[in-house]
Amino acid sequence: MPEVQGLVDFLDERLTARALTSVQVVAFTALKTFAIDPARLVGGTIEAVSRHGKWLDVAVETPDGERHLVFHLARAGWLRWYDELPARPASRSPKSPIALRVGVEGGSGFDLTEAGTRRKLAVYVVADPGEVPMIATLGPDPLGADFTVDTLRALLQRKNQQVKGMLRDQATIAGIGNAYSDEILHVAKISPFAQTRSIAADPETLPRLFDAIGETLQAAIAASSGKPAAELKDAKRSGMRVHGRTGQDCPVCGDVVREVSFADSSLQYCATCQTDGKVLADRRLSKLLK
Ligand SMILES: [Zn+2]
Repeated sequence: MPEVQGLVDFLDERLTARALTSVQVVAFTALKTFAIDPARLVGGTIEAVSRHGKWLDVAVETPDGERHLVFHLARAGWLRWYDELPARPASRSPKSPIALRVGVEGGSGFDLTEAGTRRKLAVYVVADPGEVPMIATLGPDPLGADFTVDTLRALLQRKNQQVKGMLRDQATIAGIGNAYSDEILHVAKISPFAQTRSIAADPETLPRLFDAIGETLQAAIAASSGKPAAELKDAKRSGMRVHGRTGQDCPVCGDVVREVSFADSSLQYCATCQTDGKVLADRRLSKLLK
């Protein structure tokens, strides 16, 4: 979510108070609702760019009332900004990574793109962002002013589960994904497999986790703030301590960063910092060794 916030700041500066001059839906699979024709946004004035968890929300005042262009970039999706949008419409070739193209007053604009064939990028045009099912069910935002240690304790107590899974669950807590949950747990020196109710009940571990969430996200937002959209993904990667760094040295203790793989994702951790030196079982790896 920190680079989504970076993107929000980047877009807010460039879009707000400008007229939206064109919308081209290039990949119809990306558009998840047909209730409002995206073409109805054209001619409206962009009022604000904001964020709900990892969803971006471009609010547009149109003659029909307020409308929201809401999108989630997913893992392979990104936004490409143009100071000068190409004059020709985007190619509809199935090989094109472009899903949506938006133009604004003054000739600038952006593409939403998705690499590969994942088709996870999601775009909605709605009257209220709450109409997007995954926004309606979002948990509290960990950077909200009302997110306190008590809020976190209540979320941890709700269901006893591994803390890594809980932090990633958008319906429990909004905006922390696979990458930042690894980072937060490393900062907090907590095992990814620690049980949430034990953390909630531990007067030392609970505030450590709370502080690690705030510090990690704030630092990442600071690192992405003011960066052009094209550089945000690299800024994210280079700022990581353990996530995506399997086999490299832990920046805190020098131990090797280890990995546990799952069907469609993996987590990274440092055994010395987080699990008292205990190496966590990697089911995929042990299967391979059998
Ligand atoms: Zn370490």
